[in-house]
Amino acid sequence: MSVRIHQLSKEIGIENKELIQLLVERGFEVKSASSTIDNISADSLREEFAQKKSSSEQKADASEASQAVKPKLPLGALVKSAQDVSNERAEKLKAKTPPSPTPVVNRTVPSAPKVPVLASKTPAGPPVLPPAPHKASDEKDSTASDAIKVSKPPKSQQIDAPETDSTNIEASDSATAELKKIHVKPPIVVRDFAGEMGVKPFKLISELMEMGIFASMNQTIEESVAQKIAQSHGFELAVHHRGEAQAVAQTKKKPVKVDDDDPRFLKPRPPVVCILGHVDHGKTTLLDTIRKSNSAAGEAGGITQHIGAYQIEHNGQKISFIDTPGHAAFSLMRERGANITDIAVLVVAADDAFKPQTEEALKFANEANNAIVVAINKIDAKGANVDRVKQQMQEKGIAPEDWGGETIAVEVSALKGTNIEDLLDMILLQAEVLELQANPTCPASGIVIESQVQVGRGPSASVMVERGTLKVGDALLCGEVYCKVKSLTDANGKSLKTAPPATPVNVIGWSDIPDSGKRFSHQKNEKAAKRAAADALQQRKLDAAAAKEEAQRTQGAATVEDLFAAIENQQKKCLKIIVKSDMHGSTEALINALKAIESDKVDLEIIGKGVGMITKNDIALASTGGAAVIGFNVRLDNGVQSLAKHHEVRIVQHSIIYELIDQVEECMADLLDAEIVEKKLGATEIRQVFSLGKGRSVAGCMVTEGLIKRGATARVMRAGTCVHESKIDTLKRFKDDVKEVRAGYECGLHVAGFDAYEEGDLIDCFAVEEVRPTL
Ligand code: GDP
Repeated sequence: MSVRIHQLSKEIGIENKELIQLLVERGFEVKSASSTIDNISADSLREEFAQKKSSSEQKADASEASQAVKPKLPLGALVKSAQDVSNERAEKLKAKTPPSPTPVVNRTVPSAPKVPVLASKTPAGPPVLPPAPHKASDEKDSTASDAIKVSKPPKSQQIDAPETDSTNIEASDSATAELKKIHVKPPIVVRDFAGEMGVKPFKLISELMEMGIFASMNQTIEESVAQKIAQSHGFELAVHHRGEAQAVAQTKKKPVKVDDDDPRFLKPRPPVVCILGHVDHGKTTLLDTIRKSNSAAGEAGGITQHIGAYQIEHNGQKISFIDTPGHAAFSLMRERGANITDIAVLVVAADDAFKPQTEEALKFANEANNAIVVAINKIDAKGANVDRVKQQMQEKGIAPEDWGGETIAVEVSALKGTNIEDLLDMILLQAEVLELQANPTCPASGIVIESQVQVGRGPSASVMVERGTLKVGDALLCGEVYCKVKSLTDANGKSLKTAPPATPVNVIGWSDIPDSGKRFSHQKNEKAAKRAAADALQQRKLDAAAAKEEAQRTQGAATVEDLFAAIENQQKKCLKIIVKSDMHGSTEALINALKAIESDKVDLEIIGKGVGMITKNDIALASTGGAAVIGFNVRLDNGVQSLAKHHEVRIVQHSIIYELIDQVEECMADLLDAEIVEKKLGATEIRQVFSLGKGRSVAGCMVTEGLIKRGATARVMRAGTCVHESKIDTLKRFKDDVKEVRAGYECGLHVAGFDAYEEGDLIDCFAVEEVRPTL
């Protein structure tokens, strides 16, 4: 039996990261909060911390206890432990030159109200764990500090109130030195100090460890230490003690501009999760179960609606789920889904294990750098084999934790609701590890998840806010479409005034349907948004004209090969289609799936596409263009059926996308001429040749295989070569004409137009069939 780090840290009352740090120091191989240690070690740690806690409490009682607020963390235990470790380390290093251990200064007033300055800058929320490997912290760090170097803050984001800021960066006025100045006010808290330098707190903690200092995120460090660290990062540190604020304000230069992703503006945000996996493995059921068990629809009094994503609350923390259909044909959206998501829940049915789409989904999730949580579903089903799934996880390089790997796997039944809470716990744990943050104060931007026309309300689009807070009245630009936000609605039908980062919301007020997967951005006002949209449209027209011109220019230089290719293409069959579907997103996904149909014999040309039911106009267009109409999840308008019949326009409709693709493939194959195939019926060997006079002869044979049929095609083979081929016109058993003779029997036969039989010749017999051509 083993215990997860996050469970143990809760029990003993310290942060995950601190426990990991301690265990690593003690030689344990633990990497994340979801790693495990054995029960015996866990027990001894529980004991150790219980002792430390009681002794520190005793000390605290004995002391004057002048602190107004008792620290939340068992700081005594922690610091002692860090000190212990430090001492142990120092002892170990005695032989070498030991670093002079600098004592860690406790944060004496940790409560927010006493240090409002720090509290406002320290992201609240879950304890922060080491970043996941793929969220390359170094990369982010450098970007952040680069941004600090070069950009200037917009007016609304200027850090200009010294009383409310303990620290500030300003560009050094020295013309020679590139050093940037950081202004800090003691106490210097590790997390804040890291933020000021634009480095991850963990990077700073490990640098401190290298100096022999063991400090947690919320602890303070001495000025001299901060000076050294700042220098090593290319900063000049100015420490201002209380009462010097005025002086700082006077000497402070204009603050440099910071960008929207400046770490100082970042606040924790909910994770965005997508559910991927093979068809029928239970994605939809899982999404429904999670939504039903946590939905606030009742409270809001709204009607649950599909907006492509929804948000739930679990243990007081929010999680956003992308809710787009998960079938292979939706690869595009899924790919996009994965791109706006942080965590991919890979659903694998325990009774079916990994399938092609599971692997495809895993590929997407990896490409999108998503953290992966595996939901082993249908554990209640007959034939469920959890170990088989885990074995496959290991083979695919995502070994589960209980098999010594790093991937969290939760065994669930989406149908019965078993272990769904655990799954949500694990998603939140994974989110905690990722340290997800966004700036809620900058202008809103994000991605369109789905778009459609709503009857009576015009174009609507579900979006995921990535940064900033989207508000009613905002002006947005999305490609060639603009929007003055008329209303914001969540998946429970509840009207919202604002939507902060990682919130999925349906937006009304668009000039047209924006493309799903496209990014939207905030604009100054509606007029500016309209102008920018018009500019984008104009630019596209210019680009198209330039491309056409270029194509015409190069056409003149056509080679003989091009000419032959053109003739071949003319002979190639082509199925023209008009695509209609219920939503913009699905039209696009359907078109992509259709384009993926591979055929050397038939081309597919999409001559029209649209959202909404199939209308008479579509039939008229199809009739003129000689096209078929393909409808996904749409109805036929009144009178369309009879009109289509009259014009002989083929309509193919289905609400299951892969069925639809199959039917389109059939339509394409229908354009081809039937293929002729041979099926071998049997074989004979000539044992004797009978002459009938006048040059005619008959072969006396033994049927060695299958059967021989009168009227079937025969091939006379001599020494492996075919000497004659035509139909069997005579087939006899003794004196009687027969229709067929089976293996093991003798017969006399004659092949039309051939009399030169020789003993030992083989005669193969075939049936020729016409088969439906394939693409
Ligand atoms: P999707 O294609 O991945 O979205 O799969 P669905 O959610 O539509 O589920 C496919 C089938 O599996 C449905 O008949 C579900 O009722 C069934 N199913 C889903 N989850 C479970 C489960 O946990 N246990 C069992 N026994 N059946 C399940």
